[in-house]
Amino acid sequence: MLRGQMMDQPLLISSLIAHADRCHPDTEIVSRTVEGPIHRYTYADAHARSRALAQALARLGVKPGDRVGTLAWNGYRHLELYYAVSGMGAVIHTINPRLFPDQLAYIVNHAEDAYVFFDLTFAPLVEKLAPHCKGVRGWVAMTDAAHLPDIPGVKPLCHEALLAAERGDYEWPRLDEWTASGLCYTSGTTGNPKGVLYSHRSTVLHAYAASLPDVFGASARETILPVVPMFHVNAWGVPYLATMNGCKLVFPGPALDGKSLYELFEAEKVTLTAGVPTVWLGLLAHMKANALRFSTLRRAVVGGSAAPPAMIRQFDEEFGVDCQHAWGMTEMSPLGTLLTLKGKHERLPADERFALRCKQGRTIYGVEMKIVDGGGRALPHDGKAFGDLHVRGPWITSGYFKGEGGNVLRDGWFPTGDVATIDADGFMQITDRSKDVIKSGGEWISSIDLENIAVAHPAIAEAAVIGVAHPKWDERPVVVAVKKPGAEVTRAALLAFYEGKVAKWMIPDDVIFVAELPHTATGKLSKLTLREQFRDYRLPSA
Ligand code: ADP
Repeated sequence: MLRGQMMDQPLLISSLIAHADRCHPDTEIVSRTVEGPIHRYTYADAHARSRALAQALARLGVKPGDRVGTLAWNGYRHLELYYAVSGMGAVIHTINPRLFPDQLAYIVNHAEDAYVFFDLTFAPLVEKLAPHCKGVRGWVAMTDAAHLPDIPGVKPLCHEALLAAERGDYEWPRLDEWTASGLCYTSGTTGNPKGVLYSHRSTVLHAYAASLPDVFGASARETILPVVPMFHVNAWGVPYLATMNGCKLVFPGPALDGKSLYELFEAEKVTLTAGVPTVWLGLLAHMKANALRFSTLRRAVVGGSAAPPAMIRQFDEEFGVDCQHAWGMTEMSPLGTLLTLKGKHERLPADERFALRCKQGRTIYGVEMKIVDGGGRALPHDGKAFGDLHVRGPWITSGYFKGEGGNVLRDGWFPTGDVATIDADGFMQITDRSKDVIKSGGEWISSIDLENIAVAHPAIAEAAVIGVAHPKWDERPVVVAVKKPGAEVTRAALLAFYEGKVAKWMIPDDVIFVAELPHTATGKLSKLTLREQFRDYRLPSA
């Protein structure tokens, strides 16, 4: 082998914030805080404070490889933790505060978090967790001395006081790029949550890929507001690609309702945003009710669960925003696909172009995908054949933290648990999660397809479709739906709405109207809960 002669320079997360400081020192980071006011500062400030925070962590005794937990919203102090913890060689463990307390305690203990940083919102949660998390050496309130909360049984440390004690002349260590940098637990619909351990190398490579023109298209001219939480797979990489490219960052803090989001989008001239479908339901409903328009927002990346075509169309036609469907998972850092059309698609008839835009997206360089049948044989990429989706690449996990779940790879590929089609241009479409597919009389029915039709009905706000046991067909689909406020639709009318849109035998057998649907901690429909709720439901057709 003739070895290349390029420098051996590791890909390190600290280099991202150092770059932002050098090249975009005056670019702003704006945060809505838990304490109330809007906070604003620059990349130069963020870098200086991250260095001071790394110094403070070292003084607290945090060693390379130690885990530091966060229970926090999207905000500037959380960003500083992203860089300080990973930059010093420790591991930032972003915890989803919406999980149940016993799941949270399990996660904190399994990760062996040395310290946990928390936003004031979560002080009551810390009070509940602390007695069950004896390994945690300190709980740090992400606030100043004036707002330090009283928590019975816990003497919280103060984020600002820790920073104030440091000189901030910390030098980022030159780490091996394979050093672990972050830890994220998947919500795990069955069994205990499992940890995915990212590295500096995987995180920086993912940030490069996420920045590409056909992915986030991140440039220094963009203002990005990640609605997706920094505890949901690293806010899909936004905190890293923003520093890499010098984008202005806007953090919504705890205020994720339609009105608060809309005001922040407008006040800060946001051009690009990202989040799960459920948050957009609230925002778009608020805008429609008040006849509001976006003046600067141009693109919205929507993923985490299937974006209904009706939502993609509404973003586009009513609000002039390009809604870009994306797919990924915790195990993939998370990005696997994102939807941008190719030049040749511009000539397609509008309905064909729209059908393409409803797919989950085009494969990003760095991620290889294949679909396989039950026997593990590869299926064609013809946009028709569907099978279990397997992936591999440098930002895809090779196994879970502490070996949980054993060897998860199949011949070097990671099985995603999704069922999908892939076409010759690399556009991937999720048919379903394998556990949500409805198996009726030996045929498969996509719950996502049936949900998309339900929410396209003008009276339906949200819908989930689940399989319910049937004596003859094994399972039959049932729609569980929430009506829009003030809107009316009957069971028969909703079922009639399916006619001509899917094959007759795929039309659901029943409709159940409910006031609210259950969601998981990451804002997805919890079909597991629904299936349990309706386990003994007797179909009229049974
Ligand atoms: P959790 O299930 O713990 O919330 P993830 O957030 O990693 O974990 O979820 C990943 C899963 O979410 C994917 O395997 C897929 O089933 C689903 N998903 C993500 N994006 C989409 C999308 N655009 N369309 C359909 N499903 C999606």
